[in-house]
Amino acid sequence: MRSNSVLALCLSAACARAAAARPLNVVATLPELADIASRVGGDRVKIDTLAHGSEDIHQVVMRPSLVPKLNRADAVVYLGLTVEHTFLPGLLNVAANPNLREDAVKQCAGSGCIDCSEGLSVLEKPSSLSRSEGEIHPSGNPHYNLDPEDGALIARNIAAGLSRVDPEHAADYKKNLTSYLVELDEKLALWRKRVAPLKGVKAVSYHQDVAYLARFTGIEFVGTLEPKPGVAPTPAHLEKLVQLMKRDQVMLIVREQQYAPKLPEWLAQKTGAKVAVIATMGKALPATETFIKMSERNLESLLDALGKAP
Ligand SMILES: [Zn+2]
Repeated sequence: MRSNSVLALCLSAACARAAAARPLNVVATLPELADIASRVGGDRVKIDTLAHGSEDIHQVVMRPSLVPKLNRADAVVYLGLTVEHTFLPGLLNVAANPNLREDAVKQCAGSGCIDCSEGLSVLEKPSSLSRSEGEIHPSGNPHYNLDPEDGALIARNIAAGLSRVDPEHAADYKKNLTSYLVELDEKLALWRKRVAPLKGVKAVSYHQDVAYLARFTGIEFVGTLEPKPGVAPTPAHLEKLVQLMKRDQVMLIVREQQYAPKLPEWLAQKTGAKVAVIATMGKALPATETFIKMSERNLESLLDALGKAP
């Protein structure tokens, strides 16, 4: 698609060669998606990232400087399930790129859209689409980037998307994908053994973003500090949570790095549970700049909090 449109404007063989040699301009919404896209794309892609790791994924600021990047992008890589709804559709609207159009439901429509959630078995899917009462997961839980195993799904979707946009280099993307999956598989085998002490541990999290992490670790999450996703904790809800944690002997509180430590620390004092801080985006914490490093650091944080560090 890309090379065809460029070729239509090119009259010389030299021009065609230059177009084929140009790396794809790829924009990733999140740092860990940019990392995987750079691994799969290799030297065929030039990548920009929209969100800073320290931001709340649900409230990334729409910086005007991001618009030109999207305007000239060949592809955009995103987590999907509407988690980027506060910034991605709005930026696409202003960027006016015919291959990356704003879409109210899927966030992005067009040949360059690479939705990493394609084929995901979505957890915590609500029975009706609604953003009432602050609900920010209307399409189901979008935080599958916290399950280390879903790195493979993300990488496969990126490889398929890049091959669709740039079919003449599909073999390169396939080769890079295979090499990335080998590296990830080796890590997954190690991590599955490392997280054995987490199986059956009862925990609460600040936000309802741990369903996929729970699937990998075996942690049993029994509540959240937020009464509903995106709704700030209330004194009455927290008091109920204290009672629940005492009754169920909850040992672990997961604080996602974008939330202030005050309430989780208060809860820890009240219940004796330990706090683990995790990154919900790459680059959110030190040593989380790649998907693999972020996954590893999160698992080690959970183990550390329970005194299970090596
Ligand atoms: Zn969320």
